[in-house]
Amino acid sequence: MKGKIGVTSDNLFPIIKKFLYSDHDIFLREIVSNAVDATQKLKTIASAGKYKGSVEQLKVTITINKDEKTITISDNGIGMTSDEVEKFINQIAFSGANEFLEKYKDDANAIIGHFGLGFYSSFMVSEEVEIITRSYQTNAKAVRWVCDGSPEYLLEETEKDQVGTDIIMHINADSIEFLEESRINELLNKYCKFLPIPVVFGKKKEWKDGKYEDTDEDNQVNEVVPAWVKKPTDLKEEDYVSFYHKLYPSGDEPLFHIHLNVDYPFNLTGILYFPKLKNNFEVQKNKIQLYCSQVFVTDSVEGIVPEFLTLLHGVIDSPDIPLNVSRSYLQNDSNVKKISGHITKKVADRLTELFKENRPGFEEKWNDLKLFIEYGMLTDEKFYDKALKFYLFKNSDDKSFTWEEYETIIEPNQKDKDNKLVYLYATNKDEQFSFIEAAKDKGYDVLIMNDVLATPLLNHFEQKFPDKHFVRVDSDVVDKLILKDHTKEEILSLDEKNELSPVFQAITPKDRGQFIIDFQDLGEGGLPMMVTQNEFMRRMKDMSKMQSGMSFYGDLPDSYNLVVNVSHPLIKKVIADKHEKLESELSVTIKEISKFKTEKEALQKLKEGKKEDEIPQEEKDLLKETENKISELEDSKRKKLEAFGSSNDLAKQLVDLALLANNMLRGEALNNFVKRSVEILK
Ligand code: ADP
Repeated sequence: MKGKIGVTSDNLFPIIKKFLYSDHDIFLREIVSNAVDATQKLKTIASAGKYKGSVEQLKVTITINKDEKTITISDNGIGMTSDEVEKFINQIAFSGANEFLEKYKDDANAIIGHFGLGFYSSFMVSEEVEIITRSYQTNAKAVRWVCDGSPEYLLEETEKDQVGTDIIMHINADSIEFLEESRINELLNKYCKFLPIPVVFGKKKEWKDGKYEDTDEDNQVNEVVPAWVKKPTDLKEEDYVSFYHKLYPSGDEPLFHIHLNVDYPFNLTGILYFPKLKNNFEVQKNKIQLYCSQVFVTDSVEGIVPEFLTLLHGVIDSPDIPLNVSRSYLQNDSNVKKISGHITKKVADRLTELFKENRPGFEEKWNDLKLFIEYGMLTDEKFYDKALKFYLFKNSDDKSFTWEEYETIIEPNQKDKDNKLVYLYATNKDEQFSFIEAAKDKGYDVLIMNDVLATPLLNHFEQKFPDKHFVRVDSDVVDKLILKDHTKEEILSLDEKNELSPVFQAITPKDRGQFIIDFQDLGEGGLPMMVTQNEFMRRMKDMSKMQSGMSFYGDLPDSYNLVVNVSHPLIKKVIADKHEKLESELSVTIKEISKFKTEKEALQKLKEGKKEDEIPQEEKDLLKETENKISELEDSKRKKLEAFGSSNDLAKQLVDLALLANNMLRGEALNNFVKRSVEILK
């Protein structure tokens, strides 16, 4: 019998062939899945007592015939009667087909899924497809269906001994790659590794007489009961680890796993693993494999599970995950959304459990876990709420605290005058060593927050808790890190400060950004000089490195404070030295400046109450001249101070020491410092 496939649109096959071309790999998944389904159905029928034959040896076999250019997929499943071939294969239910095809012509999965075109995907790689099938029903005649990809087909009776179906694909010229064993192996490995019925591809091979030879044993490519399908109680720790290695042959040991097993309100099984995270997110992402009843769907789960979960590895399997649909469809599917919310919850619960049951073990794994947890806290509110209970702070003594514990520790000592709790942190124990020590000496505790997400995370914390504030230890001198109420009496007058500024400004490194000279009284025992960096600016710059659109901050030069401890004997010495060397010279200039300033004031007085055109030109010129004189004198004064600074080895040495303490002294400057130090020691 000849007929015409019930497709309302004659252009279906060209579309399948042309537009689905990029995804033509999936043909094998579709045909093998159908075969597996057919065996499963037969099993169900047998267990209902409606089929008396054996269902012990159900399997799917794949054979390649290179001479005939065919790939055959055989199953001993339910088979089809002639009527069923009519119904299931020929009459593809179309509604609004043309419209839909037009809309989705670039999206193979959408088309295939929408029409139940699984079987027809075989035409992507075939010039002709044959179905030889015999139904399990008693007295059913075997039938042969042939179609060359046009809507016309042939359906006739044929001979077939066994119940089941053979799909014979006559591979087209463009697709001969699929006649290679290695290519088919690749596809089977990708899509069929965990199908629930044995899938056999050729025979097992054996190394014999210098080459591989077939043995008698079937080469089964899949594991029919993969770990995630088993009950957690039936699995040991090593089973989970070995399954992990099956999924990622070159992977490290996982940290631990979560076995998902849900049957209400949806079906979901799977095993998720916490990998050891490296700093580079991108290479770690997208290792989760999504399955639908043991059939591989995709390994790119972005948009399907929350972003931070894509850092996990493992398998998620749900019959509720639509198999043949496009990514955008999958992302908007309500089942998929529920699943994703559920997984987030499960992951948070499992971490809570691990933390509660074995805190030392949890702390040990913390360094590997924290990036994942921080990522989750930053991107998922629900996860954040739960994670705040097991998020761990580590301080500079390597002790761990929960959020709550830490709060009680620092509460008595680290509140500022506005009653804000100040969390001190360092990002580098070595580089910020002296600052950490200073804070500890003052009875403060210092956290170590050194990973890539630290800055966004503390921004996040501050948003959540407006009465808490994070301050890096080197953002100011220790007395100002947490501002208490008492203000110290200033040792230097404003004039004195103005005079000293150029001395130190002259010796700050010009290639390291901008330095502001900040005179402070840190006591005789404090360091003579220190370099600090404003918390806000530094954080903004850090953030701008991570986010586009914040380049304004990234483009600003680095800005530091050079803190000069005016109580330190060495600074006093520099000041005294300046006094001695410049006193007489400067006092002349200063006197002159003050003389001109008085003159200027007098001239300005004259102007008072007069309109611009009422002031005689003479007076105007005189004022201008006086102003110029003042700025000239100020200039020369500044230059003298700068020259003094530049030639003062002690001051230079102190600046270099402060830079050195911040790991900011490098290259030529470092070399000069070493040479100068040697000279001083002589
Ligand atoms: P879907 O699998 O999405 O229903 P297909 O086009 O892949 O769509 O298959 C259509 C129908 O043809 C199937 O639902 C099934 O009833 C039947 N069928 C396909 N392959 C086989 C097979 N190997 N054995 C028995 N029936 C099959």
